[in-house]
Amino acid sequence: PKKGDLLLEARHVTRRFGGLVANNNMSLQLHAGEVLALIGPNGAGKSTMFNQLSAVDSPSDGEVLFLNQSLSNKTSRQVAQMGMSRTFQHVKLLPTMSALENVALGAHMRGKKGVLNALFHLERDEEQRLLKEAQYQLNRVGLGDHLHTEAGSLSLGQQRILEIARALCSDPCVLLLDEPAAGLRHKEKQALAGLLKKLRAEGLAILLVEHDMDFVMNLVDRIVVMEFGEKIAEGLPEEIQTNPAVLEAYLGG
Ligand code: ADP
Ligand code: MG
Repeated sequence: PKKGDLLLEARHVTRRFGGLVANNNMSLQLHAGEVLALIGPNGAGKSTMFNQLSAVDSPSDGEVLFLNQSLSNKTSRQVAQMGMSRTFQHVKLLPTMSALENVALGAHMRGKKGVLNALFHLERDEEQRLLKEAQYQLNRVGLGDHLHTEAGSLSLGQQRILEIARALCSDPCVLLLDEPAAGLRHKEKQALAGLLKKLRAEGLAILLVEHDMDFVMNLVDRIVVMEFGEKIAEGLPEEIQTNPAVLEAYLGG
């Protein structure tokens, strides 16, 4: 995709859980070469939206389009193969395996053969290919000096970046991150922001759900603000910072 191309779009997405409306008529767009933040108070519906966008869950009404194709009949695995990637919360890093092995395993699980296949031994060519890709992605994110370091002995910030390296395998055009800066120290947040800016310059589209306002304001191009399942504001960081409805949502109540 070229810079500015529309890659991912939610059109009037509503998600109900019984009587509860977690997302109501949500629309948003994500373009190549853009970092977009989805923010809002706890319970606003951000994670629900994130799950709609990545085809982990499907809308009650409305639809999500990725590369102009509706996701309604696609599995999250198919969507990953089309070029969308999210950090896996459920597939944790294996602390006693090296950074390289963790990324290679992630690359394998994102590939066509699936999780079950990972339990059996791989063909040698395939194993070499995965290790090569893992090494390439670790260099790309700046962890090239830690290929053989055990994941568990990396700092939390480095582990977060390792998860991103894993998500970058098979070269997605869209990257979705749920609270990437959570729990990180100032220096680590700066390193993460630097990486995301680099990936943006390479043409990726990045959407992040984030609580950390300083992190968001210094990084993203555009912000969508949610409250009670709805979009209450959208704009540039400097517009959002002074938006009365946003201040009310965060400070009021
Ligand atoms: P956020 O990520 O902004 O904190 P969520 O999307 O997790 O918000 O949740 C929005 C609302 O939807 C909350 O009231 C939450 O309890 C509800 N909710 C989320 N997932 C489910 C589910 N699987 N079943 C029932 N209610 C849910
Ligand atoms: Mg959430």
